[in-house]
Amino acid sequence: MVIIMAENKSKEFLPEDVGSDDCLTSYTHIYSPDLLKDQVAFITGGGSGIGLRIAEIFMRHGCDTVIASRNLDKLREAAVKLSVASGRRCLPLCIDVRQPESIVAAVEDTLKEFGRLDVLINNAAGNFLCPASTLSFNAFKTVMEIDTMGTFNTSKVVYEKWFKDHGGNIVNISATLGYRGQALQVHAGSAKAANDAMTKHLAVEWGPSGVRVNAVAPGPISGTEGYRRLGGPRGEVAGAFQSIPMQRAGNKTEMAHCTLFLASPASSYVTGTILVADGGAWLTSANDVAMLLGYWSAEKKRDK
Ligand code: NAP
Repeated sequence: MVIIMAENKSKEFLPEDVGSDDCLTSYTHIYSPDLLKDQVAFITGGGSGIGLRIAEIFMRHGCDTVIASRNLDKLREAAVKLSVASGRRCLPLCIDVRQPESIVAAVEDTLKEFGRLDVLINNAAGNFLCPASTLSFNAFKTVMEIDTMGTFNTSKVVYEKWFKDHGGNIVNISATLGYRGQALQVHAGSAKAANDAMTKHLAVEWGPSGVRVNAVAPGPISGTEGYRRLGGPRGEVAGAFQSIPMQRAGNKTEMAHCTLFLASPASSYVTGTILVADGGAWLTSANDVAMLLGYWSAEKKRDK
């Protein structure tokens, strides 16, 4: 845990993080280390970025995990690192959230391996900067299929196979992009707005079965693919974070702590809510089409 103190501001605790897809080299618990003891969490996109850190923090609180996405080699490597760092079990499984049958097989494998399932984290997503006029029909559809339909597909399979009879906890990883119509983000902003609605619909319908459904909406989070693709490092250099209330990017461990809160009994009477974890960014950050077009064309040149 690092204490950061900007001039004129009060002390604030910033949890440890590393910028790569590696586990933490040290960790200070702020919740009880037994918070999720012997529970099992299924985390889509758990092999990288925010999802990997969520898996690690959950495991450091006594949870076993399944990390599930398309790239099995990446997942296997991540699962080894996670188990070594935490001493808990991690099962890597190959799924494409657009294909319900792959999710069904993975949830069946999870139940075979662990005999229970307590938490679902819908974290898998795809994103990139692109002006609406340049975005292909297929690119818009693909983002909707991964982010929105993928969240519905996974939630429905987990509900039918386990949560309907045993209760459980769903946390969707959202975004604030739609709140002010973020430039060059019509695809992801629309998909996450649909997910926010889905969070409330499912909270209403599945609450009586003992299922809570909530979301975390991160702002710019350093050390992630999303941050790189959406121009985070360039914004940092250009001083863009000076205009947001917390004056910095967030880190992955901070997102994992918010997710842990919603997945744990610490939030036992909370459902249908979206926890915005963005340092106040959406309230004050520039929504500047020209600046983002500059990032987009620089990124395109770099990728060529
Ligand atoms: P990331 O590392 O790219 O994570 C996305 C994950 O989704 C990857 O592990 C990827 O694994 C998986 N995935 C993609 N398509 C999939 C599919 N069809 N089926 C199954 N898995 C799939 O990105 P991240 O930046 O950490 O983002 C994590 C979450 O946070 C996302 O929901 C994102 O929208 C949200 N978020 C991030 C930020 C940020 O600043 N980073 C800000 C706001 C919101 P495979 O390639 O192996 O499939």
